[in-house]
Amino acid sequence: MKNICLLFVFTICIMACQKPKQVENIIVIGGGLIGSSTAWELSKCGQEVLLIEQQDSVYTFGSSLGEARISRSLGPKNDMFSYLQQTSVRETQGLIDYLNKDTKVQTHQMEDIYTTSPVTYIYDKAQLKEVEILLDGQTDKYEYAPNSKKAFEIFGMSIPNSSVVIREYKEYSGTLNPEVLISKLHQGIRKKGNRIRYNEKVTILKKGNGIYEIEITNSKTGETEKLFSKNVVAAAGPFNGNLVRDIAPYFESLIRPKRLFLAFFKINRDTYESLTKEQQNRFHEFYPVAYMDSEIFYSMIEKYDDQGMPIIKVGGHFLRTDINDLNSVWQKELSLQEIKWSKENTINYLGSLSLPITENDLEFYSGYSCVYSMTKTEIPYVTNVLHDSVIDPNFVLAGGMSGIGAKGSLTYGLIAANLLLNKKDTSAIYNKTMKALGSDRLLKDLSALNFIE
Ligand SMILES: Cc1cc2nc3c(=O)[nH]c(=O)nc-3n(C[C@H](O)[C@H](O)[C@H](O)COP(=O)(O)OP(=O)(O)OC[C@H]3O[C@@H](n4cnc5c(N)ncnc54)[C@H](O)[C@@H]3O)c2cc1C
Repeated sequence: MKNICLLFVFTICIMACQKPKQVENIIVIGGGLIGSSTAWELSKCGQEVLLIEQQDSVYTFGSSLGEARISRSLGPKNDMFSYLQQTSVRETQGLIDYLNKDTKVQTHQMEDIYTTSPVTYIYDKAQLKEVEILLDGQTDKYEYAPNSKKAFEIFGMSIPNSSVVIREYKEYSGTLNPEVLISKLHQGIRKKGNRIRYNEKVTILKKGNGIYEIEITNSKTGETEKLFSKNVVAAAGPFNGNLVRDIAPYFESLIRPKRLFLAFFKINRDTYESLTKEQQNRFHEFYPVAYMDSEIFYSMIEKYDDQGMPIIKVGGHFLRTDINDLNSVWQKELSLQEIKWSKENTINYLGSLSLPITENDLEFYSGYSCVYSMTKTEIPYVTNVLHDSVIDPNFVLAGGMSGIGAKGSLTYGLIAANLLLNKKDTSAIYNKTMKALGSDRLLKDLSALNFIE
């Protein structure tokens, strides 16, 4: 009898000591540009949010890694991507204003994130139809050279007869710095009283009894912890498919990670310093550039070294390849062919600007493999997930951003937040964008995949 009493008391004690299960309001998984933007937009709406990122606060991989991405607005009439970029610029201004609010010194500026510079596009004449559609009723300021003679007259550029040039001039078109933007988004999230947990990798994500169970593993200590949340946003970039395999397994087929390479070059210091002021200005004003051909050679100034020398970044949007192992691909070195291609295209471009920079003046500075995630149509998803064709209002996935996610990042975050909070926007362009990114489209893609009857 005494033993039974002791067991009873012991059980009561254990029950009393057990912590009640704490349930988070919203957990956002992935602190790249898209997850950080989503966590910020939700914070702005007064929501309690926890952002979880597997890396330390200084990132060493991920699609958002780096200090420059092209930010461009130009698009045909009612273009969704122009809307995404322009809205993102406005949202970024809102973030800057909030960070400066109630501080004596205005320490945050748009220029910390954006470098305004004309964006140069080089098309082939075979793409004239595309160019005409792009320029028809264009409201963004641009200049157009429909042939090599005009290109020389207007821009001083020597281009082949088969090419045409467009240059876009707009405030905050040029490049944006993902590293700085992420850092400011995180400051905004914290200023709103929300939390960010770095070095925590989500290792299990499933739904039970109407609530999400999330196991996180600390990447430094290996310790695990279980969290619960009413709502979840998956924004794990190339890792999304694997992350949501128990919730929405079809995303592993709908979003595929691809490897790309980035090569960085520096102009020999003596050569750079021997350029006239005018030539140096010309060099700066003609970055970023994108050749809209079958490989899409693009290039921009990534940053400046300790001595103020510009570091040029080069990539080929369509030179992407499949990946065998997502965890090790980031360490894959560039092939000699990739470096050669990057250098040749850079020399060719600088030559078209009549800048006296030869192959011997261009030093290979560094290069790395990177990854972005892609859908079949290259149009991203920002959508509630579907279970047997039924919308889950508590789970949103934002992914498949390929090479265009950065310029519209805060708009993707805004849309993800709206979906979770059931907020509507009645504008035609918003609804057009939702149709393209959201659950209607997902439903169609799933039936094409035969995931549903
Ligand atoms: C080479 C290259 C060039 C590009 N150029 C341009 C450009 O010029 N203009 C443009 O607009 N866009 C460009 N983009 C696209 C843009 O950079 C991406 O679309 C954008 O950065 C994607 O951000 P993300 O947040 O979806 O992904 P990521 O940045 O990959 O963020 C996902 C985050 O989730 C974290 N994570 C993953 N799994 C877990 C887990 N289980 N637990 C916790 N955390 C996890 C990762 O560590 C990562 O930080 C380019 C992309 C690349 C790769």
